[in-house]
Formats: sequence, C-alpha cells, structure tokens
Amino acid sequence: AAKDAGGQRATRFESSLQTEILRRYTLQAEVRDLLLRHEPSAGHLEVHYQPLLDMASGEFTGAEALVRWQHPTRGLLYPDAFLDAVTDNALDAALDRSVLQVVVADMAAWRSQGAPERSVSVNLSRSSLENPDLATEILTTLADAGIPPHLVHVEITEHEQLETNGPAAASLAELAAAGITVDLDDYGIGYSSLDYLRRFPVHVLKLDRSVVQTVGSDDEALVSAVLAMAGALDLKVLAEGIETEDQHRRLVELGVDLGQGYLFSRPLSVRNYQQQFLGISEIGVDLAPGAPGAP
Ligand code: C2E
Ligand code: MG
Ligand code: MG
Ligand code: MG
Repeated sequence: AAKDAGGQRATRFESSLQTEILRRYTLQAEVRDLLLRHEPSAGHLEVHYQPLLDMASGEFTGAEALVRWQHPTRGLLYPDAFLDAVTDNALDAALDRSVLQVVVADMAAWRSQGAPERSVSVNLSRSSLENPDLATEILTTLADAGIPPHLVHVEITEHEQLETNGPAAASLAELAAAGITVDLDDYGIGYSSLDYLRRFPVHVLKLDRSVVQTVGSDDEALVSAVLAMAGALDLKVLAEGIETEDQHRRLVELGVDLGQGYLFSRPLSVRNYQQQFLGISEIGVDLAPGAPGAP
C-alpha cells in the first residue's frame, strides 16, 4: 500500500510538472501571437500609470508606465504572470516597443487636450537596451508625436547585467543628450551599482521597495548612505513602494526627493489616471481652479 501511495504521488508530481510545462508553453505561444503576430484573439496590452510625487511639496510630477495584458480568457494579467514567458529577446524588445507606442499616443492625446505637462517613465528590458537602434527609435517616435524628450524617463535595472561598454551605454548616452532622464530602477538590491553609475548617464536612483522598508529599522543606514552618495554625485533619489505614513514621514526627513507607492496611489488605468491626475474628463480637460488658463 505504501508503495502504491508513493507511486501515485510520483504520478501526480509528473502530471503537475506536465501541466506546468504545458501552461508555460501555451503562455509563450500566446505572447508570440500578441506581440509578434498582433492576433486580436490574443487580447491586448494595456498601460497603467502610477503617479510619482515630489516628497517635500507633495506635488505630483508624473507617472511610471506599467504594462498589463488583457488576456482573452484569464482577465487582466500583471507582469509577474507573463514576463517570465517573454524570455525571448525579440519578444522583450517587442513588448517595450508596444508599451512605448501606447505611452506616446497617450501623451500626445493629453497634450492635444491641454493637460499639464507631466513626465512618464518607461521600463526598458535588457534586450531593448542591447538594440543599437534603441535611441533612434525612441527619439523618432517622440518627434513624430511632438512629445518633448524632457518629459520622458527610461528605467533600467542592475539585474539585467548590462555590459557597461556595449550598445546600452551608447544608447543611453544618446537618449540623455537628447534630454531624456535615466532612472536606475530597483536600486539597492543589485551588485554592480558603482560601475553602473560611472558608465551610464544615470540621473535618478529608484530605491527598491525592500530598501524603503528598512526605514525605521537599524538597516535604515542604507538609505542614508545612498542619499549621501546621491548628493555627492548630484543624483535624485526616488523611493518606490511607499505604503505607510511612517515611511513617508521618515523618507522626507532623510531627504528623499521623489516617491511612489500605494500610500499615494496604485497604478491606474489610463482613464482613471488622466481623470484623477491630469484633470481630463471624458469630454476634455477640466482645468483645476487656479491652474493657468482656468476661469
Ligand atoms: P518596477 O519597474 O520596479 O515597478 C514597480 C512595481 O511595484 C509595479 O509592479 C508596481 O505596481 C509595484 N508597486 C508600486 N507601489 C507599490 C507599493 O506601494 N507596494 C507594493 N507592494 N508594490 C508597489 P508591476 O506593475 O506588477 O510591475 C512589476 C515589474 O514588471 C516592474 O517592476 C518592471 O520590472 C516590470 N515591468 C512593468 N512594465 C514593464 C514594461 O513595460 N516593460 C518592461 N521591460 N518591464 C516592465
Ligand atoms: Mg520601474
Ligand atoms: Mg521599480
Ligand atoms: Mg521594483
């Protein structure tokens, strides 16, 4: 009987492994249909926007663009549910390109409706950054839509382990020279921080949520150390994943420049973001009282 139970367990394990492999395989095929073949049956990408705030004034400065996939049967999928399936370089780059197209179209719509100028930060994967035409592609897309580069941030991460003298360095230098801001994402959990800062034109350090969570504890010295270094190198610091008033208060005391987190706002659908943060209603811009041009 013991042997039978073991056998059954092994079979169940094998079948769950098969299910997992099949699930992954299906997901990869669906992602290819979505990103490379643009099959309507694969659903569509959506970009959600999470507001960023100036910590000292509380003023809202812009948003981070975060991709979601409206899947035909599984509903709205978050990056965690599908980015692992996008392991193929061509897919990674196609995903970032699609997101950029959506972001630029949204920014153009906001401009045409007279919304206040606010920045948008776009995440770039390693494959995007290794594309030698990246800077030209981004700058052309912005120019075609009439979006000034100074409104755009690109976010790069250390885990992606970019070669510090490869095409990424050249692209980032070109983007920075055109006025685009470069943010180093997930800062504090990577390993090559200093080399990155030396080789890439970084303007903003985005403290990872796990680092932000150390405020108020003994490990808070990490945050102070990053701030001291950022001050010396003339970089701004943005704290991500701020969830509590206590974190907020302490981060302001420590001198963090910018913040992002559920405490202020979750990522919002474009409709909610433009309504709540850009003053755009269904029928156009409702200028906030006191805004330039408001009655
Ligand atoms: P990230 O770039 O570090 O983005 C921040 C993540 O933290 C987002 O998760 C956001 O929803 C979440 N977050 C923000 N505030 C809080 C908070 O207060 N508490 C908690 N628990 N979480 C918070 P999301 O949207 O699930 O995105 C996950 C990751 O997927 C992103 O991490 C980024 O690495 C990647 N990603 C998202 N959109 C894109 C994209 O368009 N292209 C690429 N290449 N990667 C993307
Ligand atoms: Mg990011
Ligand atoms: Mg981040
Ligand atoms: Mg992160």
